[in-house]
Amino acid sequence: MSAAGAGRGDDALIVGAGFAGLYMLHRLRQVGIRARVLEAGDGIGGVWFWNRYPGARCDIESTQYSYQFSPDLEQEWCWSERYASQAEILSYANHVADRFDLRRDIVLQTRIAQARFDERTQTWQLRSQDGRQFSARFIIMATGCLSVPTWPEIAGLSSFSGEVHHTGTWPREGVNFAGKRVAVIGTGSSAIQSIPVIAREARHLTVFQRTPAYSVPARNIKLPPSVLAGIKAIYRQLRARAKQMPTGVLFDSSTAKALETPPALREREYERRWRRGGLTFLSAYCDILTDRDANKTASDFVRAKIRSIVKDAAVAERLSPKTPIGAKRLCVDLGYYETFNRENVTLVDVSSAPIERITATGIIAQGTLHEVDIIVLATGFDAMTGALLRIDIEGRNGVTLRRRWHDGPRTYLGLAVHEFPNLFTITGPGSPSVLTNMLPSIEQHVEWIADCLAALRDSRIGSIEATAEAQNAWMAHVAEEASKTLRASENSWYVGANVPGKPRIFMPYAGGIPKYTQTCDEVAARGYEGFVLEPAATATGFLEEEPA
Ligand code: NAP
Repeated sequence: MSAAGAGRGDDALIVGAGFAGLYMLHRLRQVGIRARVLEAGDGIGGVWFWNRYPGARCDIESTQYSYQFSPDLEQEWCWSERYASQAEILSYANHVADRFDLRRDIVLQTRIAQARFDERTQTWQLRSQDGRQFSARFIIMATGCLSVPTWPEIAGLSSFSGEVHHTGTWPREGVNFAGKRVAVIGTGSSAIQSIPVIAREARHLTVFQRTPAYSVPARNIKLPPSVLAGIKAIYRQLRARAKQMPTGVLFDSSTAKALETPPALREREYERRWRRGGLTFLSAYCDILTDRDANKTASDFVRAKIRSIVKDAAVAERLSPKTPIGAKRLCVDLGYYETFNRENVTLVDVSSAPIERITATGIIAQGTLHEVDIIVLATGFDAMTGALLRIDIEGRNGVTLRRRWHDGPRTYLGLAVHEFPNLFTITGPGSPSVLTNMLPSIEQHVEWIADCLAALRDSRIGSIEATAEAQNAWMAHVAEEASKTLRASENSWYVGANVPGKPRIFMPYAGGIPKYTQTCDEVAARGYEGFVLEPAATATGFLEEEPA
C-alpha cells in the first residue's frame, strides 16, 4: 500500500474531483466529517479538465453556472464572458480548490477500479487501478454524468495513420490544425462548438453527420463590468428565484401555450429569443417539450433560420433536423450553421448508410474515400451510468451494481441504491441532474448528503440503505414524469440510445428541481424515510479508528 492509500481514518471517500467532489469535500469538512477525494486525472475540474476541445464552453450563463454556497466567493469571482470558456471554468475550479484549501485532501492520479462493501466491518473497501487500497464507512460517487467518452465502433479506426482525438479526452497541449485536412465525426454539442473553430484553422474540414442537431445562437459577449456588478448586487435574490425554476436556471420562462398564441405573435417571440440567444429559446412556451404540435412551431422556426443562413439549399436541408426540438439536448453555438458557407467545409450525410470504414488515410462513406490527416471524434458519452458501471461495485451479499443495473439504472432519489448501503451518488440517474443547471443540482445533493452523514453520526447510526419498496416507488415516479416529456420518446443519450446494447430507459428525473428538492427534504425530515438505518456496530460509532 502506498502512502496515498493507507494510514488515514477517513469517514468518507469521494470519487471524482469535479464540481461535485470539490464541494462535497468542503461541506463534509464543515460538518466535521473526515473525507478525501480520489481523482483519476492529474488535475481537478472533472469534465472541464478533460473537455479541452477547441470552442468548449458552457451553454449556461457563467453567472448561473457557478457555485452559490459561498456569497463571498460569488462576489469575488469575476466572470469575463456571458458564457464561460472551458479554460475560465477550469481556472474557477482551481481557484475554489485553493480558496477553500481543498487540495490537501485530494489524491490525484487515482482511478478507482473496484469498490466492495465489507459486511463484517460495515465499510467500503476501494482499490485503484494501480492496486492501492482505501477504506471508509461511506463512499460518495461524484463521478459525473457525462464523463465516459464513447468511441464509435467503426471498422478500421485503429488503422488510421494520422491523429485521432475524442473531444472528451482532448490533449492538454492542444491540436494543431493549421494546413491539415480534418474530419469531425458527430454533430452534437461538442461538435457544434468545435466545428466553427476547427474550420477557421484547418485547410479543409469534413463533417460526418448521422443525425442533424438543433442549435440556437449563443450571442456570447464579454460581460460588461456594470452588468456583472448589477448581478452581484442582487445575486442572492437571483439564485433564490432560479431555484424555483424546474431547470434551476433563471430563464425568462413563459406560462403561455404556443398553440394558443396567434402565429404572428409567436414568430415575434421566437425571433426575440433567437436574437437574445441561448437555451431560453425553449422557454418561449410551456408546451414546447410536451406537445408535438406546439413543438413543431418552434422547430419550424429554427428550420427556417437554417435555410436563411446556409446558402446551399441542399446543405441546409441536410442540416435541418426532423425530430422535435429539445428532445435531444438543444445545442448553443457561435456560428455553427454559418460555417457550412465556407469553401473549406464539406458536410457528409451518413444517416442512410453509416461510415463504411476508416483506412490508413481517411474515411470511406457512401463509397467515397475522404482523405484526412486528423480525425476528431465528437461522438459523445456513456451518459449517467457509464462512470458508475466501469467501476466494479459490489454491495451486500456479493451483488454487483452491473448485475443490478443490467436492465437499466434503479435508484432511490438518484442518491442511493438498494443493496448498496452507505453509498451515495451525486446527480445519479433518477435525479434532475442533466435536465437542469448542474451546479445547483450538485449543491442540493451535496448538502443533503452532508446533512445526512452528520445526522447519522449524531445518532450513532452505522449504515443507511434504501429499501427496495422506496426504490421501486421512486422509479415508478421517475417513469411517470418521463412519460410527460417528448424527450423520453426520442433517441438520445438521455435514454441510452447512443450506446449499442444499453438498455433503453429515460435516466434523469423530469419533475424539476423544486418538486425534487421538496421530496428530498421531506424524506430527511421524516427520519430518512425509505431508508433502513442500523446502529453502528463498533464502540467508536461512526468515526473510523486511526489504523494501528
Ligand atoms: P452527443 O450529443 O451524444 O453527440 C454525439 C454525436 O456523435 C451525435 O451527432 C451522434 O449521432 C454522433 N455519432 C456517434 N457515433 C457515431 C457514428 N458511429 N457515426 C456517426 N456519428 C456518430 O455528444 P456531445 O456532443 O459530446 O454532447 C453530449 C452532452 O454533453 C450534450 O448533450 C451536453 O449535455 C453536454 N455538453 C455540453 C456542452 C456545453 O455546455 N456547451 C458542450 C458539450 C457537451 P447520433 O445523434 O445519430 O447518435
